[in-house]
Amino acid sequence: MSKKLILRDDEMPTSWYNVVPDIPNGLRPPLDPATLQPIAPEKLAAIFPMGLLEQEMSPERNIPIPEEVLEVYKIWRPSPLVRATKLEQALGTRAKIFYKNESVSPVGSHKPNSAVAQAFYNKREGIKRLATETGAGQWGSALAMATCMFGLKCKVYMVRVSYNQKPYRKSIMQTYGAEIVASPSAYTNYGRSVLERNPDSNGSLGIAISEALEDAVTSESTNYALGSVLNHVILHQTIVGQEAKKQMEIAGEYPDVVIGCCGGGSNYAGLAAPFVPDRLEGGKVRFVGVEPASCPTMTAGKLAYDSGDTAGMTPLLYMHTLGHDFMPPGIHAGGLRYHGMAPIVSALIRENIIEPINVHQMECFEAAVLFARTEGIIPAPETSHAIRAAIIEATRDLNEPKTILFNFSGHGLVDMAAYDSYFAGELHNYSLPREEIAESLSHLPKVE
Ligand SMILES: *Cc1c(COP(=O)(O)O)cnc(C)c1O
Repeated sequence: MSKKLILRDDEMPTSWYNVVPDIPNGLRPPLDPATLQPIAPEKLAAIFPMGLLEQEMSPERNIPIPEEVLEVYKIWRPSPLVRATKLEQALGTRAKIFYKNESVSPVGSHKPNSAVAQAFYNKREGIKRLATETGAGQWGSALAMATCMFGLKCKVYMVRVSYNQKPYRKSIMQTYGAEIVASPSAYTNYGRSVLERNPDSNGSLGIAISEALEDAVTSESTNYALGSVLNHVILHQTIVGQEAKKQMEIAGEYPDVVIGCCGGGSNYAGLAAPFVPDRLEGGKVRFVGVEPASCPTMTAGKLAYDSGDTAGMTPLLYMHTLGHDFMPPGIHAGGLRYHGMAPIVSALIRENIIEPINVHQMECFEAAVLFARTEGIIPAPETSHAIRAAIIEATRDLNEPKTILFNFSGHGLVDMAAYDSYFAGELHNYSLPREEIAESLSHLPKVE
C-alpha cells in the first residue's frame, strides 16, 4: 500500500456501531446514587437530551449518523490510516505498524467525533447552553467548536492546574466563543465548598464534573456534556474503528493487535469495538489498552460500582475505578488522569477481550520523541502511551511479522510545555503507593 490510505467522503461510514449487545454477559445498569436501584431515564433527562439517552441504553447494533453530523464530520473525516514505515525502520522490526490519525480534526484530537454529535442532539431538543468540564483542555476545545457550529452557548469548568498551565487551550475555547472558568470556581455551591476547605485547590476532573453537573441541574435550558466514559460517547467514536477496518481491508491487511491509550476509554473503544465481533467469532486479534502507571485504573483499580465525580452526583457506574476521591499525581498526560474507566472497556477487560497494561511517563516521552523524529507528528502526551505500547509489541521479537494498529488520538502542539519539561530533565516516573489506592477504594459506595 502507499504510505497512507484515505477514503473518499462517500466511503465514510453512515452509522455508528454499538458494541453493547455484543459484549458477553452484558453491562450492569447505572444506579441511582440515592436509592442504589437502576436509575430511571427520566432522572437523566434533566441533563441529557433523549436522543443521547436512547443511544446510552440502545440494544441496536447500528445507529444511523444524522446528516447534519456527517456534514460536520466531513470537515476532517474520513481521517487517514498511515503506515509508520520510518518508525518501523528505526526500530529494526519486521512488524507493520499502522496508526489511525485522529489528530487531523480542527482541535487536534478524536474528541470532536462525540462533541459534534452531542451538540447536534442537544440543539435538536431545544437546549440553549451546554456545561462541561475539561482537564487538559482537549474536550473543552472540542465541545466549544461543536457548540459554536450548532449555535449553542458553552460553559467550560477547567481544572485549575491546567487553566494556569495551558493558556493556549483557553485561547482556543475563547475563539469558538465559549466561557471558561477555573475549577473549583465560585460559580457553584460545590466549587465554593471546595474552596472554603482548600483555597489553593488545584482542582481535579472529578470536582470539575461536579460543578458542571450542578450548573446543568440548576438551569432549565442548560444540559451537561461528558467527553468520555459513557456508552453514547464510545458509540460516536466507533466511526474511527469502522473507517480503520475499511482502510485496512483496502490495504489487504488485518491487525494482529489493536492498541490505544485509555483515559476514560473512548478513543480506544472507538477504534477497537468494530473489531470485537471478529474476535467473538474466533478471530485471533488481540486488544491492548494502555494507561499511565501513575493512574492505574484498569491494572490496579477495582471493578465495582462508583461515582463518576467527586461530589457523588452522577449515577453509579459499574467500572474499573481507583475511587471517586482519588487524586492523581500531576503527570503530563492530563487526559489520562481520571479515576474511572468506561463500563464498556471495563466489561471487555472482565471478559478477557481487552488486555490492560500500564507504562511510565518517561518511556512514553521517549517513544513520543522517536515518533516525532521518524513520522514527523508530535504526539499528545496521552497518545504517547499508545505509541509506547506499539513499540513494545513491535520489538518483543523483531523478526515476527505482525500487524499492529493503534489510535493516534491527538497531536501535542498545544502541549509543548510538557516536552520542554521532559527535555529539561524535570520529569520523572511516578508509581502510586498501594496504600493510597487502598485508601481511596475504601470510600466506594456500598452496593449489595
Ligand atoms: C482526552 C484524550 C484522551 C483520553 O480520553 P479517552 O476517552 O480515553 O480517549 C486520549 N488522547 C487524547 C489526545 C485526548 O485528548
